[in-house]
Amino acid sequence: QTLDEGLEKSKTSFFSKLTKAVAGKSKVDDEVLDNLEEILVASDVGVDTTLKIITRIEKRVAEDKYLGTDELNKILREEIAALLSETNLGEASEFTIPSGKKPYVIMVVGVNGVGKTTTIGKLSHQFKKAGFKVVLGAADTFRAAAIDQLQIWADRVGVPLVKQQMGSDPASVAFDTLQSAVAQNADIVIIDTAGRLHNKTNLMAELTKVKRVMQKVVDDAPHEVLLVLDGSTGQNAFEQAKQFTAATEVTALAVTKLDGTAKGGVVIGISDQFRIPVKYIGVGEGIEHLQVFNKYEFVDSFFK
Ligand code: GDP
Repeated sequence: QTLDEGLEKSKTSFFSKLTKAVAGKSKVDDEVLDNLEEILVASDVGVDTTLKIITRIEKRVAEDKYLGTDELNKILREEIAALLSETNLGEASEFTIPSGKKPYVIMVVGVNGVGKTTTIGKLSHQFKKAGFKVVLGAADTFRAAAIDQLQIWADRVGVPLVKQQMGSDPASVAFDTLQSAVAQNADIVIIDTAGRLHNKTNLMAELTKVKRVMQKVVDDAPHEVLLVLDGSTGQNAFEQAKQFTAATEVTALAVTKLDGTAKGGVVIGISDQFRIPVKYIGVGEGIEHLQVFNKYEFVDSFFK
């Protein structure tokens, strides 16, 4: 599945709306801008980021005196690309890790249902395919189902999973996982954590403890804190990003379910607002349906 196919819903909807917004108009005027603003908000770009984009286009209109609607696509694409360039959004295309960290420890956070387990499974598969030795840790110990689901993915991908009983201390599972990874000379450890948004203080305490205990084994772990967000939930995704970034230092985002939504714009808004790179996007339920996020490809897929 290509990025274009995966984002078909967002694309079609964005384009049909944009086409309607400019129908019968030859120049970009206030009405076209108002319509564009509505379309961007409806695509879940977020109000703040939408206003930034509109302001940029207004500036172009003012500078050029006349802006034909036939040029709107091109200008919009340029302005969104420029906006994304101000964030440190990903522009890679391969599943890889920085060298010199062994094992490279990825701590995955996110609420239940967003696709956290699936993303860990798909990511393990890609890393394994790329030649890395991967070990998983089931430190989301609150639900038995979370551990079972992760086991299913571990078996499917063919990577070891370190786990304990449901209800055990997440930090203890993380500790065991890192020890096991070091003993096996693994390249990458992926730790599943904190599946519920309890109150902020608890979440922060749990994640802090997991980190501290991991550092007894690998002193600069985790190297990456990956927050998984469901791209089809719009404002909820923004809210979760807010809560998790307040509770821990999130270094990267994975945005899932972009295949099932007409609201792929959430990626633009979240990147702009939180200044955290989107590293991966989920574009389907299958094992291959995870892609390394590339901002240029993403913008192009909307504006081709
Ligand atoms: P978790 O509770 O966060 O661990 O969520 P799961 O990984 O169990 O995923 C919840 C549901 O979302 C499952 O049915 C997954 O197949 C589905 N899912 C996860 N990622 C994607 C995606 O990128 N696209 C689609 N369409 N479904 C996804």
